[in-house]
Amino acid sequence: YHRTVTQSMSDYLAETLDAVRDDERGTVHQVPQALAEADPDLLAACLCTTEGSLFAAGNVDHELTVQSVAKAFVYALAIEEHGVEEVLARVDVEPSGEAFDVLSVEPETKRPRNPMINAGAMVVHGLIGGVAVDWQERERIILDGLSRLAGRELSIDTEAADDELAQAHRNLALAHLLRAEGVMEDSPEDVVTGYTRQCSVLVTPRDLAVMAATLATGGRQPITGEQVLCLATTRHVLSVMTTCGMYDSAGDWMSQVGIPAKSGVSGLIMGAIPGRFGLATLSPRLDGHGTSRRGEAIFTRASRELDLHLLTDP
Ligand code: GLN
Repeated sequence: YHRTVTQSMSDYLAETLDAVRDDERGTVHQVPQALAEADPDLLAACLCTTEGSLFAAGNVDHELTVQSVAKAFVYALAIEEHGVEEVLARVDVEPSGEAFDVLSVEPETKRPRNPMINAGAMVVHGLIGGVAVDWQERERIILDGLSRLAGRELSIDTEAADDELAQAHRNLALAHLLRAEGVMEDSPEDVVTGYTRQCSVLVTPRDLAVMAATLATGGRQPITGEQVLCLATTRHVLSVMTTCGMYDSAGDWMSQVGIPAKSGVSGLIMGAIPGRFGLATLSPRLDGHGTSRRGEAIFTRASRELDLHLLTDP
């Protein structure tokens, strides 16, 4: 039975890839250079059930930088470390309706609008390990947490990080403004260095499917069996992914796809269907919001064909 299911679901994913393969619209992100040079035809979909069964089609073992998909997982790690109240005191959870690199703050407290935009993600990054740690220590904690979610030891593309850092003027400007407003205590340079390296963690679509499945189980990594996060944390993170994960297209995504998800400019999308499975896609050509075009098409089809929209009774 297991093999039959495995076969048919992987076949389904392969057929879905074929259905979207010819869509060549969109552009590949140009920073860092490693992304600009990525093969634009890469295409993958991987699904991991809450029981740990994996179904795969396409380039599921291709490693590339995680980019903004990491924001959701590092947010989870910050909540585990500090508790949700303390994290909420630093970063709000309201959709900004603006692009990911805009300084969108709640007017009264100056908190970044949400942890999925860069401003919020940098403040969240700075919370890891407490105030007195340097970026190297923060990086150790983040790599350890992400590796436990993936169930294997992840590493950083330091060349990609250095390349992006040399051009990170906008993120540096955001970090300085956040520091000036008093919502961030760390050195802006340290936070941007650490945040950029966090964006440069190398993952495969297969890793992301497993990590997403860990959100779908309420924090139990389905392959290793380790309880990496607690249920309250995953519920909170999934809520914020639902409202803010796709930046200024979050409303459109929620109504069309209906799956809590997070996109990254490398062309990855990670989504979690609570109690059922994690789904990850890869295709580097992006729309104007920084979301993978064919990735979105795969999610849209799967949502419809597998009855995944959160607000439908399956
Ligand atoms: N490293 C990118 C940045 O900070 C990540 C953006 C993204 O994936 N949306 O600008």
